[in-house]
Amino acid sequence: MMRDVDFLLAARTGDPLPLDRPLVYRYRSGALRPRMIAALRRLAAGHSLALWLEAPPLRPGFDRAHVFLSQLLLFDWPARTARPKGLDDPRKPLSADALQRSLELLAVSLDGPGVHFLEHASPVARHPGWAAVERGALVLEEPAITRGSLPSVLRCLAATTDLAPGADLLGQRGFFASFAGLVEERADLPAVIQAFDERVLLCTDPATHRYDAARDRRDAVGRRGRRAVLSHLRDLTALRRECDLDDLLCGLDERRAERGWSTHHLVADLYRLTSRLLEPASHPRRARLGARSRVAAPRLAEGAALWAALLLAWEDALIRSVEEDRHGYRRGPDLIVPALAGLGRDFLAREERAEAGDPLNGRRAGLARALSRGGMDVRDGPGDPLASVRNTLVRALAAMLARFGEGPDWFEHLHEGASAACGRLDEKARRDAQREEDEDEQGTPRCLVLAPPPSPLHQTFATVIGRGHAVAELRRHARARTDGVDLLLHGPDGVGKRTLAWSYARMVLCTQPSPDGGACGACRSCRAFETGQSGCIEIDGAHPDIDKLSRHLVMRVQTAELVVSEVVLPIRHVFVIHNADRYPPAMFDRLLKPMEDSGRARFVLLARDRRAVRMAGRSRCFDYRVRPLQRSEAEAFLEKYFDVGGRAYDAAMLALVIDASEGRPNRLRRLGEILAGPGPSGLVDMCARLGLDWAESFVRHWPAIVAAATSASAGVVNASGVDRTDIDRTEAERAERVRRVQAVLQLVHLRGVRQGSSGRDAIDPALRHCDPSIRDAFAAVVHRQAEREGVSAETVWARMAETWLSDRA
Ligand SMILES: [Zn+2]
Repeated sequence: MMRDVDFLLAARTGDPLPLDRPLVYRYRSGALRPRMIAALRRLAAGHSLALWLEAPPLRPGFDRAHVFLSQLLLFDWPARTARPKGLDDPRKPLSADALQRSLELLAVSLDGPGVHFLEHASPVARHPGWAAVERGALVLEEPAITRGSLPSVLRCLAATTDLAPGADLLGQRGFFASFAGLVEERADLPAVIQAFDERVLLCTDPATHRYDAARDRRDAVGRRGRRAVLSHLRDLTALRRECDLDDLLCGLDERRAERGWSTHHLVADLYRLTSRLLEPASHPRRARLGARSRVAAPRLAEGAALWAALLLAWEDALIRSVEEDRHGYRRGPDLIVPALAGLGRDFLAREERAEAGDPLNGRRAGLARALSRGGMDVRDGPGDPLASVRNTLVRALAAMLARFGEGPDWFEHLHEGASAACGRLDEKARRDAQREEDEDEQGTPRCLVLAPPPSPLHQTFATVIGRGHAVAELRRHARARTDGVDLLLHGPDGVGKRTLAWSYARMVLCTQPSPDGGACGACRSCRAFETGQSGCIEIDGAHPDIDKLSRHLVMRVQTAELVVSEVVLPIRHVFVIHNADRYPPAMFDRLLKPMEDSGRARFVLLARDRRAVRMAGRSRCFDYRVRPLQRSEAEAFLEKYFDVGGRAYDAAMLALVIDASEGRPNRLRRLGEILAGPGPSGLVDMCARLGLDWAESFVRHWPAIVAAATSASAGVVNASGVDRTDIDRTEAERAERVRRVQAVLQLVHLRGVRQGSSGRDAIDPALRHCDPSIRDAFAAVVHRQAEREGVSAETVWARMAETWLSDRA
């Protein structure tokens, strides 16, 4: 038994590949799979063998492949062994028969070479025939992260990093120790890799390679508390204390800021946590600890069920935030934090109502809407971003209520609703299976071959500003054309993922690259880029016809593989997969074999939310986070493309543009064009052009809005989401007004009602750049209203949040 990291280290200096017996690689996260494949490919080449990927079952004579075909076969065993549906599924699980036959074949060839990749928990490993395979083989294992394995893992990462080649990182004080927390957390390998990259990128001097422990510790403060999010949620639903809500919100907020999560991921995470909350306690001993232990079981159950139901009832507001964030049309503040605060307060406020009967009073419509979403056919309509986490939650809720048996009346109603929703889910699963069978193969798939990015500012990586880590790695992958690697680029919209992908494709497809790997700009492939006929093909994972597109893509790869007689280009296609995080899972799985198999096609997956990409896909890719530009990089960007230095701009003006761009090159380019055009006459004019000048006039309406939202008639007045003066406004104006109220609520929330939370960046740019006295005025109005009513400012805010942020707004 050997660790995969040790094997990779050994492969750098020698040849640990056994040719007289099989090699078995048991991976967990699979984060090192691409590196293992690349290393095996190199080692095999040393024996004049080509690494060849195969999916079991094994065929007779497979053990002679190295003799007759100069191939070293790599068998990728499936993680499941159930019966498949859909015949062209390349990840088709093995039938019991096929597994049995394969293992029998393997048993008589244990003295031959061959590589087997097997997921750690795969049932294949539990088959009685497998033990013999492992007895004879060199077994590699992806270790769980423990005190014992961490040094090897870090040694391997340090030896293979391109971020600080040759640097003695492990020998430096504090470097090693800074990973200790990950062991306690039971982090997985991808988390360690990410932490390693961050230490090197952010806490190590690029020139001297000195690691700055003090700086790392400062960053670490922000990382604290993330472990406890589920525990805060348990406390909140059991003890129903204000402070638990604060802890929960801070925990979620920190977790998101630290990991660069999208709103979608944050919300999905909360759904998952809530599902876990509903599970039967698996550690009764641990559950007895703390204040929670003194709460009676029925009350615990009521709290958990109520929280789950309210989360669903607030789903409209949550989906709105997710969609805005996803489509990048959010111009204002991030509303998800106040929306979650509103949900939490709603939960706490329902404590008293529970005594009176129905704690879900007033939220039933929202709840019914959420429950009815599961099981709908949304295949051709707009996607349902929360479908899978909601389905899990609804099933967990139904199961929990069924387990609980007798409860208050509202339990029964809730149980009925949840069970009915589960029934619809089952029905949908049946319909989907049926449709898959009925699906006809005819109809011409329309492959979307898109033109290069509209503004070809980045012909080569040399001209890319910022995002140094991703660029350096992409350049390295493009140079090493034989690696056969696929990539995953993730980051927010407009951050330049697509531009990077196309620059990479140019380099990889060029037939006469420069010595440093850059595209020549003159060869046939390079010219084809200008006419849109290049081998770079882009498809959108969220496309309604994605099913057909996927088939077509797989076909393309297969044909490209066949045309090997005249080797024109070593790599014929680069497939850029947009919205890989929205790719339907079953279809995505069809891509897996071409991804790993093909020497002639590269895949670049683009995603906003890395974790929403299929795990099997992630494990086949090197993944890189594309970060927004930092301030200095944004300045360099404007300097380079708009020559802003040549013209005397006010520093405040530049700051405004950079701020409003949020570090996203696409937006920065648009704003730069405004700046470099006829030019604004001044800061006020520029604010107006950017639509960031509404605060001053809005502050005059603010007292009326606050008073209305807190008056007894608020519910009636705001039933339509607006107050009466808005009746003659257009839909868009009304939506903008709602957005502004929400932006101001967010500002007030961050400035006074609750301390802490995320900083200034969460504030709407219009509010960030207005006169400070205006910002103060917004908060002051809320405080004055509170004084008038003799309540706390927080109460006023909470009521407003309920009106403007919940589903009625
Ligand atoms: Zn070229």
